[in-house]
Amino acid sequence: MGLPCALCGQPIDYSLPAGDPMSYELDEIVPVSRGGSPYDPDNVQPAHRICNQRKGDGTRRGAPAASRLPWSRKW
Ligand SMILES: [Zn+2]
Repeated sequence: MGLPCALCGQPIDYSLPAGDPMSYELDEIVPVSRGGSPYDPDNVQPAHRICNQRKGDGTRRGAPAASRLPWSRKW
């Protein structure tokens, strides 16, 4: 793999442990809740865990944590 995050375009550190906000997570283009398949290669893309969570959390914009975006750090 080695692909960048499909949501923010930043590289993903695939060596980070699962659960780290910047770790790799599989993002379903069509959510399973809307009939998408998590096993279809055409329906999944790499994403940061936190980007995936933000995407699924789009109704809560302007949360205080948004001012401390982890990807604003130097790479
Ligand atoms: Zn990302």
